[in-house]
Amino acid sequence: MVASGIPATGNPSLEFDASLVRKLIQLGPRYTSYPTADSFSDAFSYRDYLQTVVGLRTRGGMWPLSLYVHIPFCESVCHYCSCNKVVTRDRSKAATYLSYLKHEIEMQGNLFAGMNQIEKLHIGGGTPTYLNDAQMGELMAHLRRHFRFASDFDGEYAIEVDPRTVTVERIHALRKQGFNRISIGVQDFDPDVQQAVNRIQSEQDTLNIIRAAREACFRSVSIDLIYGLPKQNVITMAQTLNKVINASPDRIAVYNYVHRPNMFKPQRRIDEDDLPSLDARLNMFSLCIRRLTDAGYVYIGMDHFAKPSDDLAIAQRQGRLHRNFQGYSSHAEHNLVAFGVSGISAVAATYSENAKTLDEYYERIEQNELPIVTGVKLSMDDLLRRIIIQMLMCNFELSIDSIELAYPITFKTYFAAELDKLHELEDNGLVTVDDEWISVTPKGRLLIRNVCMVFDRYLNTACEAKTGGASAKTETRPLRYTKKI
Ligand code: SF4
Repeated sequence: MVASGIPATGNPSLEFDASLVRKLIQLGPRYTSYPTADSFSDAFSYRDYLQTVVGLRTRGGMWPLSLYVHIPFCESVCHYCSCNKVVTRDRSKAATYLSYLKHEIEMQGNLFAGMNQIEKLHIGGGTPTYLNDAQMGELMAHLRRHFRFASDFDGEYAIEVDPRTVTVERIHALRKQGFNRISIGVQDFDPDVQQAVNRIQSEQDTLNIIRAAREACFRSVSIDLIYGLPKQNVITMAQTLNKVINASPDRIAVYNYVHRPNMFKPQRRIDEDDLPSLDARLNMFSLCIRRLTDAGYVYIGMDHFAKPSDDLAIAQRQGRLHRNFQGYSSHAEHNLVAFGVSGISAVAATYSENAKTLDEYYERIEQNELPIVTGVKLSMDDLLRRIIIQMLMCNFELSIDSIELAYPITFKTYFAAELDKLHELEDNGLVTVDDEWISVTPKGRLLIRNVCMVFDRYLNTACEAKTGGASAKTETRPLRYTKKI
């Protein structure tokens, strides 16, 4: 039996309606970008990127930059993994990678010389702490040589940490190296679940790492959980949630596991008989919402919860929450520069993606070229839809006036087809639409991607081409977007 129609008591603006979620939940983009990365094309090249940066300089692009660095290595493979990673115990590969990464940082540093103030850095993977202490120090020193970092107080410097790869001392070292936010992969504390996904990490070690992060004065400690894993049930989930809530992280992300063994090889090692049923998954989802909101966490959107005192919750209250490739952010950013294999940069009105394999990444850098292999230049329509999706994802509402003021359109005419689709969602209780506002209801917040997909021209065009414009949308991207350590 699935729990139904549960108002999340700690957060009256969120309501879990099991029958609605069951009816409407679908695979769809997570909108960490718009257009999503599957729309990028190899017609966009390194030269397009150079022109974009030159254009930025001509317009006097003095806004702060954000940086992302991808470290792809992992020591062993988690069976649920859908990330771009390289599983190896050969540590010399990290040293080789670091030398190429440094060259790429140097090239980007030269391009952005004079407009290189950094307020945000995120190091993700793979497993960033696959780099040892000295290598991480070398990477940070190199970044600081080529970019000007804002003070610890003014900047957000985050790293993803796999507790299996670090000691308490390493956590303190990371803080000294300049990181002030930490995201810790837990997924589930239950030993049978850990066994089934090949990710054994002792509860005590993980709790020690969380405690060490607090002692080292990280400004924000974030925990990642997953529901829907093999051997998981509502009881194991409740036990994991209790332990996580007791550890009191500032942010908790609860991702839905999507089983797609055809797309992600490691998932073929999962015994499908061990996967929870849809009812069990919905019960776990509902339990997560209830337990976390009862414990005082605020639902930020798309799997993310935060304490009301955390920057994300404050930014949401103040209407300045932002979404990028790393998820939600309290800083709106003008330009994001990504380093490393498969990194995606967002500079001016473009996205550009680095080579996805180490060989190709190394080859491009050896030719003294940035390793950009695909990307896209955003049209006015893309920019317009991007801001609409961003507002809905972050604020759960959209002021039609604000769009008409910023863009030369009449909303009702330009988005006539989209408004028709929104009225269908309105009939299902997900949104309310009037002449001035599109507002996502408490029930609709858990299905926010359904609302955003209405404005996704690429998705709708693809479906119309396939179906003559008549049916439900299909999806080509994994439900979970990379980041899971
Ligand atoms: S889930 Fe994270 S740690 Fe596990 S294999 Fe994937 S990238 Fe590596």
